[in-house]
Amino acid sequence: MGEHGGWQRTAAGAGLLSTDGSIAATIFAEMSALATETGAINLGQGFPDEDGPAEVLEAATESIRNGANQYPPGRGIADLRLAIAQHQERFYDLTVDPDTEVLVTAGATEGLAAAILALVEAGDEVLTFEPFYDAYGGLIALAGAEHRTVPLRWPDFQPDHDELRRAVTDNTRIILVNNPHNPTGAVFDRATLELIVELAHRHDAIVVTDEVYEHLVYGATHIPVASLPGAWERTLTLSSGGKTFNTTGWKIGWATGPAALVTAVTTVKQFLTYVNGAPFQPAMATGLRLPDSFFVGAAADLQAKRDILADGLRSAGFALSLPHGSYFIVADASALGVEDAADFCRRLPSLAGVVGIPITAFVHGDRHSEYRSLVRFAFCKKRAVLHEAATRLATLRA
Ligand SMILES: *Cc1c(COP(=O)(O)O)cnc(C)c1O
Repeated sequence: MGEHGGWQRTAAGAGLLSTDGSIAATIFAEMSALATETGAINLGQGFPDEDGPAEVLEAATESIRNGANQYPPGRGIADLRLAIAQHQERFYDLTVDPDTEVLVTAGATEGLAAAILALVEAGDEVLTFEPFYDAYGGLIALAGAEHRTVPLRWPDFQPDHDELRRAVTDNTRIILVNNPHNPTGAVFDRATLELIVELAHRHDAIVVTDEVYEHLVYGATHIPVASLPGAWERTLTLSSGGKTFNTTGWKIGWATGPAALVTAVTTVKQFLTYVNGAPFQPAMATGLRLPDSFFVGAAADLQAKRDILADGLRSAGFALSLPHGSYFIVADASALGVEDAADFCRRLPSLAGVVGIPITAFVHGDRHSEYRSLVRFAFCKKRAVLHEAATRLATLRA
């Protein structure tokens, strides 16, 4: 039975357990614990330290007072599904039927889990870019699928088109596209997204997109894959309100796409959470209907925060890949004499009172060498916190 028997077998098989049977500790938990222990500024985990728009928070408390406290409908409350459809129309000219082409999920994470479990069979291949959001590796493994990747390389983190062409084959069941991209902050251009659609057609693959940072783009335009010619019929689009509205703890997400795909995902979703977040669903509808000025303002605010942290990192001696989207900035510490960013990140709290995450946390072991000196820092924090982090980082140079 190897190291694990019985109930442990599946999680162990998916590489999610340590050899002693404990949950494999993630570098995220380790770094957050280190931040708490040392009082360092935690730029590791990507959660905002400020509340989102007051009217959205107010709508949630109103909902609780008004009794929205029981199971909502399986696909989500009708008004949120309508607000999601209206949002897709307003921002992307996508016409979506709120009754058959929209599903409310427990964050984008449940959408990802349900999509992967619904659409792949053991042995199928799922293609992602690499580095990849850590949940992708775990979910693909749990589904018994093969995880193939195409590298995104420093400094611009755009995929090489020939490598992408070679990576998609008739065994590829899902091309999972995270755009804007975590952890690199890359925003993919139209040509890359069109190539993905072309390859999906040629090899009969489904495109699943994770667009949780759709509104957090800086000097770039977010193009949903589903809006490209020929894409809709084979694209499932996932998003959520956590990042846009500073409500990462609410876990309200959504899937949109052709009815057959949404129905397939719903069949799995009903056995995962069934439903979630009754009082937060109306609040999310309020958020999605905020005027354009809110969305423009949220991006401008984060762009200013990005620039505060970027200046700090540059003056500390890091080389940067300035991100066009997301909450994150990737810095190369090699100019500071750092070869192993994982080791550096463990020492950074005592060296400078700041916590970051090594990019190797987002890549498979056999690719570690390419990303060895890179660190991800989150800039979704109060400006004063980012200024303080910049001041502390400056001491690295001394
Ligand atoms: C934060 C994040 C998620 C998770 O979204 P939830 O709505 O909190 O489940 C998914 N994908 C990426 C790339 C993220 O950064």
